[in-house]
Amino acid sequence: MSSSHPTAATPKPLYRRFSDIFEAGFSVDWGIGSFLVISHVLVLLLTPIAYIFAPAGLWQVMLAWTLIHAFIGALSTTVYSHRLIAHGAAKDVRLPTHIIFLALQLFAVQGSVRRWSAQHVIHHSVDKTGQHHLDPYSATWFSTSWRNFLWSHMLTYLFNHPFSREFDAALKAKAHPAIVWQDKHYLPLIIVANFVLPIGLGIVLAGWLGGFCMLLAGSAGFVLAQHNTWTVNSVTHMWGFKKGLMSSAQNNYVWLGPLGEGNHHADHHDYPRDFRNGFGWSGWVLDPTRYAILALRGLGLVQGLNRASRWQEAQIIARRKVRDTKAKSRSVIWQQWEDKLATLGDEWLAAAKAWDQFKLEKTRLTHQIRQAGADSMAAARQRMDVTQEELMRDLRARREDLRAEMQQARQRLKARREEFFTALGELKQANMAVA
Ligand SMILES: [Zn+2]
Ligand SMILES: [Zn+2]
Repeated sequence: MSSSHPTAATPKPLYRRFSDIFEAGFSVDWGIGSFLVISHVLVLLLTPIAYIFAPAGLWQVMLAWTLIHAFIGALSTTVYSHRLIAHGAAKDVRLPTHIIFLALQLFAVQGSVRRWSAQHVIHHSVDKTGQHHLDPYSATWFSTSWRNFLWSHMLTYLFNHPFSREFDAALKAKAHPAIVWQDKHYLPLIIVANFVLPIGLGIVLAGWLGGFCMLLAGSAGFVLAQHNTWTVNSVTHMWGFKKGLMSSAQNNYVWLGPLGEGNHHADHHDYPRDFRNGFGWSGWVLDPTRYAILALRGLGLVQGLNRASRWQEAQIIARRKVRDTKAKSRSVIWQQWEDKLATLGDEWLAAAKAWDQFKLEKTRLTHQIRQAGADSMAAARQRMDVTQEELMRDLRARREDLRAEMQQARQRLKARREEFFTALGELKQANMAVA
């Protein structure tokens, strides 16, 4: 695994030491700071004791509660706070989806959905605006890696950040009434979900000691859910195999922990609105959150998923390849190959665009056939079905032609892509021959 290497997208460090941030207007958030420190210390110190002294049979309930709690907290964050709300990955999120996930997200203990998503919008928007000092969990502010890791992973939450108009606007933009309601009542709601509920359950099952044990089990659950999210901000912005174009994020293909969000963070930063978190086959294998969103669509709870077109994907991948190959090539070799690579890249993109257009036509045609089918049934009932049936025949014939044309377009796309990658391989050989 390669460590991160500076590129145009990696800004210069802003601070040398943690204490430098006070001059920039930061102050300690004593409320959230003490809550995070105390809950972590208590979970680490008291959990083993709780398991040792737990009333008979309760340890299984404690373990199950911790795991379910962590899973619910993590999934509600990745599916809802992140992809659906921060990034608008679906054009239509139905009211029951909002209500269910706003309740589940209380178990994440990472701030209200409104605040979480507004912070995350800023985390991405600095990729375009270049205002890296606004990134709430930047992994590039400090000149040393260990400070960047600690800051982006957890320390950022212990401080009040200076007011910014950008954050204020991002917060106000998340204006769905259910999201605003959860934000307003966040404190009592998380107390009920994370403290009253497990303590009450424990008391019912095994008295006051049971209540104490279940409190720790629940707290361990939200601590796990918190670190699940935080590793995306720290680990995947610092280590990986494939650097993205827009940010310090990297694809590392191994960090399955955050329900798929850690594997393809570079892809995600390069096309954030996508309901998927990674391109290509590895995105399919390593992205459980995508399955959850597809299941929601299957249930009719979300509609109109956004995804990068083949052309957009190809453009991102080709630009990364050209950047990396140029950086590794001797300048004399690069000059010989630059034009050829650009031409092959353009041909690949043109083939991808053609494919996208066929795909669009197929979607339109399917819709038309469905509509014509419904119309002709209505017409048949009124005994005037001739023109409808003709239309249906034409549409079906076009669909047959389209199938064959799409087959060819797919082959062309594959061939152009292969030519581009073959040229990259030959360029590599040319570099090695000179060496
Ligand atoms: Zn990120
Ligand atoms: Zn994101």
